[in-house]
Amino acid sequence: MKPISRREFISKILNTGVGLSLWPLVSACSDVAGNRSFHKKIVILGIDGLDPDLLRGFIGEGVMPNFQRLMGHGSFSRMQSSIPPQSPVAWSDFTVGASATVHGIYDFIHRDPKTMIPYFSTSQVLESKHSIGIGDWKIPLSSGKVKLLREGKAFWEYLEEAEIPATIYKMPGNFPVASRRANCVSGMGTPDILGSYGTFSFYTTAPTLKYKEVTGGRIFPVAIRENKIVSELIGPVNSLKKEQSNIKLPFLVWIDPQNNVAKIQIQNCELMLTPGEWSDWIQLSFDYLPHVKSTKGICKIFLKQIRPEFEMYISPINIDPTEQALPVTSPTSYGKEIVQKIGLFGTKGLPADTKALSYGVLSDEQYLQLSQQILDENKKALQFEMDRLQSRSGGVLFFYFSNIDQDSHMFWRAIDKKHPQYSSTMMGRHADVIRDLYVEMDRVLGDVYQTFDLRDDRFRLIVMSDHGFAPFYRCFNLNTWLLRNGYISLSHGGSEDDTTFFQNVDWSKSKAYGLGINALYLNIRGRERYGIVSDQDGPQLLMKLRKELLDLKDPVTGANAISRVWLGKDLFHRGDDKVPDMIIGWNRGFRSSWETILGGFPPDVFVDNDDKWSGDHCIDPMLVPAVLLSNKKITLQYPSLHDVTATILAECNIPIPGYMTGKPLYLI
Ligand SMILES: [Zn+2]
Repeated sequence: MKPISRREFISKILNTGVGLSLWPLVSACSDVAGNRSFHKKIVILGIDGLDPDLLRGFIGEGVMPNFQRLMGHGSFSRMQSSIPPQSPVAWSDFTVGASATVHGIYDFIHRDPKTMIPYFSTSQVLESKHSIGIGDWKIPLSSGKVKLLREGKAFWEYLEEAEIPATIYKMPGNFPVASRRANCVSGMGTPDILGSYGTFSFYTTAPTLKYKEVTGGRIFPVAIRENKIVSELIGPVNSLKKEQSNIKLPFLVWIDPQNNVAKIQIQNCELMLTPGEWSDWIQLSFDYLPHVKSTKGICKIFLKQIRPEFEMYISPINIDPTEQALPVTSPTSYGKEIVQKIGLFGTKGLPADTKALSYGVLSDEQYLQLSQQILDENKKALQFEMDRLQSRSGGVLFFYFSNIDQDSHMFWRAIDKKHPQYSSTMMGRHADVIRDLYVEMDRVLGDVYQTFDLRDDRFRLIVMSDHGFAPFYRCFNLNTWLLRNGYISLSHGGSEDDTTFFQNVDWSKSKAYGLGINALYLNIRGRERYGIVSDQDGPQLLMKLRKELLDLKDPVTGANAISRVWLGKDLFHRGDDKVPDMIIGWNRGFRSSWETILGGFPPDVFVDNDDKWSGDHCIDPMLVPAVLLSNKKITLQYPSLHDVTATILAECNIPIPGYMTGKPLYLI
């Protein structure tokens, strides 16, 4: 197998250029008359990463009166997350009301055992197979396609069949969106216009050495000549060109020699920004074939500073919801309708720019400014959807918030003295970031109470998360551990220094490998391309690995790195090559390293986590339970995500299908 670097891997698996350019746009009406005999209004707020202990703590401080009121009126409960408790898995569990046995999503990342190439688990882009060449152009003979890999029937499909109006706003793992009657906006897993999960651009006159190895963004050195900077914004790959080059939009920045202000001109947009100022969303057009085919994107520009060095950030270019390169709303007209009501809105799956913060391209404060803009945009969209539901006789609204999850990942270091990234300065400045966000969510709940009456028996309010949160102190290099313990061999002369995707692994002598955040696979003969472990030897090998992993102690802290493991065959009942052989439940404080999840071999088995990404939840799900609140008393003990799905169907008088493992939360 030709080795590929991690960078190449990332660009390869994310590149959806063909799909972006050729998605056929379908327009349909977004308003649904619906089932006139359905008189219930059901609102489900999905708050990613809302943690039960933090929530209880803040309620105890008296800063979350609206959550307190909901607890008093109905119920508050911890809720079982999915195994593993990763967002695409957990929200897919909720979507289909069952485990990965039904939806087939086991981790953020899956691999093809025949090629060992990893891919993102929830969607896949299929390029057009045939094309003809004319001069420099490569014209495809059919459209490229993007495919949703989550299987199973989503709960809103049952609502559609019952003609119950439904809106599903940014459900993770729901891209590309397709629905018959429900209004949907795609969620986590929606790429930017480059086909990546977020690529920022950063233009600077400063020496760029400190940013040399950046993932999730590009650094462009620029120079000022006669108060002017000339550069370009990199757009999607022009799949119609034989050499497959990126489409580039030139832009100009004029710097006022006297005042602290700059004028930016890009395409038809002209902006005046002062240092520290953000633009609104701007619309850009990337032409594949002049006057014939173009793709539309939206981005924000942040002028970080002008002097002494010029620094300017451009956000990942989101798919324009008004002219969708790939389907981010269903129907497509729904995107335009939202824009008419609230203005342009971001469509990229994970909207905050955690990479820009990790690399110091955005400071803590600047990252948080963007985070607040995302929250404000979502609050406006929620109000629009609540008003619409209120004007109907009945219906179901699911609305997703990403902020608590993304910002808890990035700011755990400010609340936890044991974190390697903790400092008293950090705490002094940002100790309240997470708390403030919880308070913001409390205000959102207040908005819900302004629109609906909590005591109305025809109104159901469910507030749920997909998992809680934990610190991420120590990184575990699973593949390095497998290498040191003889489960992986490197090819003759191979080096482990290069942290690239399984580069130099001798698969003919390797028995097991880690890939994804919680998955371990055996190198099974007949399944993996160069598999050597027989089906007979597999179970014994897994038992041995299980014991060794559960006994494993961090030499620095003395704590166990892993608190629980599961065998894939015990959890997931489907004959599927994708099922991991083992799911690893990291102990609190531990997680797989970023390098190891893509098949890298850093030198040490345990290392301190020195990234600003300082909190996590992809660990043992028993240690990061989710949250469930409802305005009706929950009678079920320790409910699961599946139970919420069953409850929605039950509340809509729809029979719960046999494959769904959940039970209604309320005694009728
Ligand atoms: Zn998360």
